[in-house]
Order: sequence, then C-alpha cells, then structure tokens
Amino acid sequence: QKVTPNRTPVIFSNELQQRVIDTQAILEGLQQATARRQLYLCYQPIVSAKDSSFCAFEALLRWDFDGRFIGPDQFIPLAEKSGLIKEIGAWVLNRACMDASQWQYAHNAAVSVNVSIIQLMDDSFIRALDNALRSSGLAPERLHLEITESIFVDNKIKIKQQLEAIQARKVHVSIDDFGTGYSSLSQLQTLSVNQVKIDKSFIDNMHHNGEAIIRATLFIASELNCKTVAEGVETLEQALALKAMGVDYLQGFYFAKPMRNAQLIDWQNPITD
Ligand code: C2E
Ligand code: CA
Ligand code: CA
Ligand code: CA
Repeated sequence: QKVTPNRTPVIFSNELQQRVIDTQAILEGLQQATARRQLYLCYQPIVSAKDSSFCAFEALLRWDFDGRFIGPDQFIPLAEKSGLIKEIGAWVLNRACMDASQWQYAHNAAVSVNVSIIQLMDDSFIRALDNALRSSGLAPERLHLEITESIFVDNKIKIKQQLEAIQARKVHVSIDDFGTGYSSLSQLQTLSVNQVKIDKSFIDNMHHNGEAIIRATLFIASELNCKTVAEGVETLEQALALKAMGVDYLQGFYFAKPMRNAQLIDWQNPITD
C-alpha cells in the first residue's frame, strides 16, 4: 500500500482545522503576550460573611490578544501544555504582589493568586515566590495561593514539600474548586491547607444536593481549622443562606465582578451593616 504522508484526511473537517489553526495562533500569540504587555490582572473581592468587610481580592488573568479577549479557561490549559505557564505564572505572582503592596485603602486585604499545579511542581516555583515577595515588599501573610484540588491526586510527596515550603514563608494555601474533582473530604486531612474554596456548582445547587455537601465541607474544615470561601455567589438569598450555614467568606458577582486594579478603590460593598 502506498503511503501519502501529506494528504489531509477527509475526516479533518473545516471546523476542526479552524480549531487547530486557532490553537496554533493562540500559542504563538501567548508566547509574546507578556513582552507585548497584553496580559493584565483583574481583581474580585472576597468579603467576610460576618461583617461584610473585604478581606482579599482574587487575581484573575486577562489577555487582550490584539483586541480579541481570550478567557483564561481557554489559554491557561494551552500555557500548561506548552510550559509557558512557568513564565506567565511568575509574571502573575509578581504583578499581584506589586499591586497588593500598593493597596493603601485596603492595607490589610490579602491577594489570592491562582497557581497551576504544573507551576507548583516546577523546581523554580519557590524561587519565583521569594522573588515576588522580595521585590514587592508584600507581607507574606497577605499572599494566598489557590491551588486546585487535583493536588490530592498528583505526586503527593513533592506536593507536600512544596506546600510546606510555601507555609514556612507564612504564605497561605487555599484549595480551589473544592468538591469538583476526585478527592474526598477525608483527603483534606492529608495536606495542611489554610482555606477551602467551595465550588460554585454547589452554591448553584444549594436547593438540591448542594447544601448537604456544603455542610459536610464546613464541618471538616472547622475540625481542621481551615477557613471556608463560597465561590460564585450571585444573589442576596445565597449570601444570606451561606452566612447562616457558617461560611467564613463570600465571593461572586453579587458582590462584584472582577475589576481592573484602578477601579478597586471606588468599589462599594452592596451589603453594609
Ligand atoms: P477560578 O479560579 O475558579 O476563578 C473563578 C472564576 O469564576 C473566574 O472566571 C471568575 O470571573 C468567575 N466568577 C466569579 N464569581 C462569579 C459568579 O458569581 N458567577 C459566575 N458565573 N462566575 C463567577 P475567570 O476569570 O474566567 O477564570 C477562569 C479560570 O481560569 C479560573 O477559575 C482559574 O482556574 C483560571 N485562572 C484565572 N487566572 C489565572 C491565573 O492567573 N493563573 C492560573 N493558573 N489560572 C488562572
Ligand atoms: Ca481561583
Ligand atoms: Ca474556583
Ligand atoms: Ca475554576
């Protein structure tokens, strides 16, 4: 049988071809995004359920690719696959620490930074962390790192070492998207974490099975001296119900959408009592 290596298979549809081209263009663009200053951070407030004061701001990465806005859900996975996440992640860490060190109107608020598991597992990570802290002068207690619960399934020994190195610097560790992956509540005990972020899907689903899962998470978290955050709070009813259940912190569009750093100063909490 004759082999024709360069022939495009028929099943390679136009749509798929378009996606392959997009992925390639995105990857090439992403390689230059930092240098071309196309990346920036938005911040979303995390408020105390008790007194509604703002306690932290989560840094969320944005990319303006020549006028096209590409969401982090789309480009972070590509950055992880290509290894670019190390460089991008280090940039995010630096930028977030710099910005937070200048929040004079909110001088006690922490900044919560998303860290990809690939970034966390890289040997350069602790160096990047030290760099960001040193060059910004930010008090380490004001830096929180959000890591998805996939840390429970990856190389446990290495992860434990990394989390210990982070916490030895007084930086806090949050488990992000808690409850969505394969981990169980009992696995929380195996790693020392400071905070658990309950995934939006359980908040959305509070009237069905969500509430039982939220209550179970709150119970384990309190046993382990772990703070809790409810993510994706969109209504006042949700905020009040979560507060009544004993969640420590709330975050979501009900309070604010992610904002540019300069806008934070004008932000007013809708709940003030
Ligand atoms: P995440 O860490 O779970 O972040 C929460 C996402 O939910 C954000 O989407 C946020 O804008 C959105 N959100 C917050 N409140 C609400 C709400 O009330 N309703 C709804 N519908 N959505 C809400 P975003 O900014 O598009 O980020 C998506 C994901 O991309 C993040 O999910 C995170 O996993 C990842 N990501 C974002 N920035 C970074 C970063 O700097 N580094 C890494 N490694 N990942 C990042
Ligand atoms: Ca997060
Ligand atoms: Ca999350
Ligand atoms: Ca998420």
